[in-house]
Amino acid sequence: MIQTGQQDLLRAADDLAARLPARLAVFARLAYNYRWSWMPGGPDVFREVDPYRWSMRRENPIRLLLDSPDDALIEAAKDRSLVARAEAMEQTLKAELADPVATGSNARPIVFLCAEYGIHRSLPTYAGGLGVLAGDVLKEASDRRLPLVGVGILYRQGYFHQRVDTSGWQHEYWIESDPDRLPAALVTGPDGQPLTVMVNLWGRGVRLQIWRVDVGRVPLFLLDAQRSDNDRMDRWITARLYIGDRKIRLAQYALLGIGGIRALRAMGIDPAVVHLNEGHAALAPVELAREAMVDGRSLEDALQDARGRTVFTTHTPIPAGNESYVPEEVSSVLGGYPMELGLSEGEFFDLGRPRPEPDEQFGVTVLGIRMSRQVNGVSRRHGEVTRALWHGLFPEQPVEAVPIGHVTNGVHVPTWMAPPMRALLDQHLAPGWIERASDPATWEPVEDIPDEELWGVRSALRAELVDYVRDRSVGDRLAREEPADYAEAAARAFDPSILTVGFARRVAAYKRLPLLIHDPGRMLQLVGGDHPMQVVLAGKAHPQDEEAKRVLQAVFSLKLDPHVAERIAFLEDYDMGMAARLVWGCDVWVNVPRPPLEASGTSGMKSALNGGLNLSVMDGWWEEAFDGQNGWAIPGDPSLDVATQDLQDAAALYDLLEDEVCHDFYRRDERGIPRAWVRRMKASLRTIGPRYSATRMLDEYLGRVYELT
Ligand SMILES: *Cc1c(COP(=O)(O)O)cnc(C)c1O
Repeated sequence: MIQTGQQDLLRAADDLAARLPARLAVFARLAYNYRWSWMPGGPDVFREVDPYRWSMRRENPIRLLLDSPDDALIEAAKDRSLVARAEAMEQTLKAELADPVATGSNARPIVFLCAEYGIHRSLPTYAGGLGVLAGDVLKEASDRRLPLVGVGILYRQGYFHQRVDTSGWQHEYWIESDPDRLPAALVTGPDGQPLTVMVNLWGRGVRLQIWRVDVGRVPLFLLDAQRSDNDRMDRWITARLYIGDRKIRLAQYALLGIGGIRALRAMGIDPAVVHLNEGHAALAPVELAREAMVDGRSLEDALQDARGRTVFTTHTPIPAGNESYVPEEVSSVLGGYPMELGLSEGEFFDLGRPRPEPDEQFGVTVLGIRMSRQVNGVSRRHGEVTRALWHGLFPEQPVEAVPIGHVTNGVHVPTWMAPPMRALLDQHLAPGWIERASDPATWEPVEDIPDEELWGVRSALRAELVDYVRDRSVGDRLAREEPADYAEAAARAFDPSILTVGFARRVAAYKRLPLLIHDPGRMLQLVGGDHPMQVVLAGKAHPQDEEAKRVLQAVFSLKLDPHVAERIAFLEDYDMGMAARLVWGCDVWVNVPRPPLEASGTSGMKSALNGGLNLSVMDGWWEEAFDGQNGWAIPGDPSLDVATQDLQDAAALYDLLEDEVCHDFYRRDERGIPRAWVRRMKASLRTIGPRYSATRMLDEYLGRVYELT
């Protein structure tokens, strides 16, 4: 383990323990390492202390322990079996922390830099898929004992929360979290004071402090400008993730890249590899070069050396994800930074310009590509798309030879598999299977699971989701001040025996949520027919994406139809906790992006781990995962004009739902088992489980990208 900040976390845990009955001290220690969140039974141990507060405090164990009334704590302390379970978890954690690293060394770790991390719903440092993937990388690195550290930003207000009004219009609100009530501690120096680093922005120094959050064996260091010695404006820089103001956002990226490297230095950490997870942190290698120049290296050498240590993963072909800035914006944020590198402003801008011309903008993706020894996209298809997108940076090469590869995303199996499914596989797969999740042979025994058992788990998971949807939809609708009849319609009609279809992801134009209601009549027949389906929808639109908000509103406008009110539920405020409920419980996971704009997508992988079947456009990960047996595919033809694409893809979606999905789901044998459906579930688990796990993803990053020696 990397030591810096460890004492600070231990001290925080001791302080918390001192407020609790003595026997609950173990809970305080567990609370300060997110490892509990992916241990079997881990969340239950906290929930059982006080189920009401667990849910009210967003499953944050620190807040649970601080806020539970004395009698709940005393009861928990008296519960011998509960305390024994917590103690067993601590033994597991301690043993893991004491293990040596599997490869490389903690003295020179892999440094993973990302603007967002989705570790758990209680830590408000993520917005969506990029962050959740980064969280999964950290957890998988911990499981595999890799020497890896994460660096990011502690956003006091995180990403926005969503509320929708009766007209279907989205409203945003932010909740400020108190870091003293998060499982985080300020890293202190030898003098006991918080360790800080400075970055100059707009001509004045901004001081950053560093929080440590433990994710199993992996420390996550989060930078924070919220200090009284910073200018008021500057304290705000780290307030909100993907903040609307362009200059403040660029300032965030500068703090992440430049401040991230400085924070590592202050903690005595020398990166063996710097992994830029998306372009936001692309100033990090530039800072590495600046450091080398301070040590007397030439600019050429210093840049070469920084590139030799940096690898870059790009995550989207969408322009909003490949931000660029005009030179005046860069100058006003970075001030004299280029000069510190001995570069003129023009030369500095050229590092981030597609072509060295004054009217070209400075792009973080271009900077990432230019400053890395290796670049990859996140699926085979996305690799191709990315090579074509950035061909202009390599004009002398044919497009196939553009040096950008791919490592297809994967998801952390222990995080995303529902406990009943985990228990079923523990019973039928070989012991220790989860460590060998990337080996297809590990999953072969899935074929031999009795259909009744697998179907039993699927039905139980669906029933749990139906319960959750009933609660949430009534709550959301009443809070919106909808009429009582509408408010309780979904609670009345959602049924644990009905085919349950999920569609939850960011509401962005290319994700094409409206395809589902492209032909409202056909959709209504599907939800109200003899072989009915019920649909759960969720997702946030970016606060400044008016078009996406109108899309959401258009979907809401259908609510007056009685079948829609009963069988289609939109749940507000999508987060990781809700994502888990949905991927656990849905029978079918629908994804209809406009190809080729879905770089990978990961929620469908999570669904597959729980026996859900994917029905998706051939794009992103599905283009390489679909084999004819393990789900359903909509071809999707990017060469058509947009309206024709939508028409064709919507028709293909309805055809599949009518002819195959609804049909197969309700085709039961005399024992009530849909045999063809279960066969498809098995094919899906067996083929998707190994290939789209974070285990396989890290195999590839280790083998082909990090190249630790
Ligand atoms: C997995 C996940 C995502 C990514 O889903 P996509 O379908 O890949 O967009 C987004 N948000 C949350 C909360 C997730 O858990």
